[in-house]
Amino acid sequence: LQIPEIDLADGVRIPQFGLGVFQVPPDQTAENVAHALEVGYRHIDTARIYQNEAQVGQAVRASGISREELFITTKLWNSDQANPIDTLKGSLELLATDYVDLYLIHWPAPGRDTYVQAWKGLVEAQKQGLVRSIGVSNFQPEHLRAIIDATGVTPSVNQIELHPYLTQPGLRREHADRGIVTEAWSPLAQGMVLDDPVITEIAAAHDRTPAQVVLRWHVDIGNVVFPKSMTPSRIEENIDIFDFELSAEEVERIEGLDRGHRTGPDPDTFNG
Ligand code: NAD
Repeated sequence: LQIPEIDLADGVRIPQFGLGVFQVPPDQTAENVAHALEVGYRHIDTARIYQNEAQVGQAVRASGISREELFITTKLWNSDQANPIDTLKGSLELLATDYVDLYLIHWPAPGRDTYVQAWKGLVEAQKQGLVRSIGVSNFQPEHLRAIIDATGVTPSVNQIELHPYLTQPGLRREHADRGIVTEAWSPLAQGMVLDDPVITEIAAAHDRTPAQVVLRWHVDIGNVVFPKSMTPSRIEENIDIFDFELSAEEVERIEGLDRGHRTGPDPDTFNG
C-alpha cells in the first residue's frame, strides 16, 4: 500500500490521505484510530475542540509505530487564539508527544479579532520546535492576506470545506498562487454526495464504491483528505483507492457537480 506524500512549502512531507476524528466520541476514539493504524493509515487529523486528543495519543502509543512514521495534526480552538503556545503545550500533553506535525488555527473567527495574534504565536511555536509545520483552516483570501502581511510567513496548508458540491475554485486558485496546500474537510460532504447519479455511475464503471470515487477525485486534484468513519469495513474501503485512476473526463464531470453548498458554518461569520 503506497500513500502518496506532498511536499509542503516549509519542507515537511504530509501523507495525502489520513483519518479524521471529528465527532468520534472520546470513548470510541482509541479503538477507531487503532483500527486505522492497523490497516495502514499514518495521518490523523484531530483538534482540541474534538475532545479526543488524549485517546488519539493512547492509540498512537499502543500501536508501537515509531513517532516519525506518523503525521499528527491538531488545531487551536477559537477561544484560545490569544494564547496559542500554552494551548499547544496542553495538546502535546494530551497527545503524549513532544511535537505535532501540523498545527492549525481552526477558524479565523474574525469577530474575535485575534487570529493575527494567533498566527504570530504559531510562528513562534514552530521556532521552538513544538510543531513541524504550521497552517490554518477555514481562512478566506482576506484572512490569508492579513496573516501573511503581518508576519511574512505563509501557512503551509489551508484546511477548508471541499467536496463535489463545494469545489472551492476561488480558494484553490489563491492557494496555488501562494504555494499553500489544500486540505479538504468533509471530503464526502458527510455522505451527502454518495447518492449523486454522476458519482454512482462513475463508481459502477470502475467497480468501486461512491466513497472511493469521491476520495480518488480529491487525490487526483491534489487535495489532502482524511475521511471520518467509525465502521471498520469503511475505514478499510476508504484507504483502498491507490490502485485505480479516474480519467480526465471523469474528474471534470465531478468538478461540474459544484453548487456552492456548505454543510458547515460560513467562515466569514462564524466566531464559535
Ligand atoms: P466526511 O465527509 O469525512 O464524512 C464522514 C461521514 O461519511 C461518516 O460519518 C459516514 O456517515 C460517511 N462515510 C464515511 N465513509 C463512508 C463510506 N466508505 N461509505 C459510506 N459512507 C461513508 O465528514 P467529516 O467527518 O465532517 O470530515 C472529515 C474530517 O475533516 C473530520 O473528521 C475532521 O478531521 C475534519 N473536519 C475539519 C473541520 C474544520 O473546521 N477544520 C470541519 C469538519 C471536519
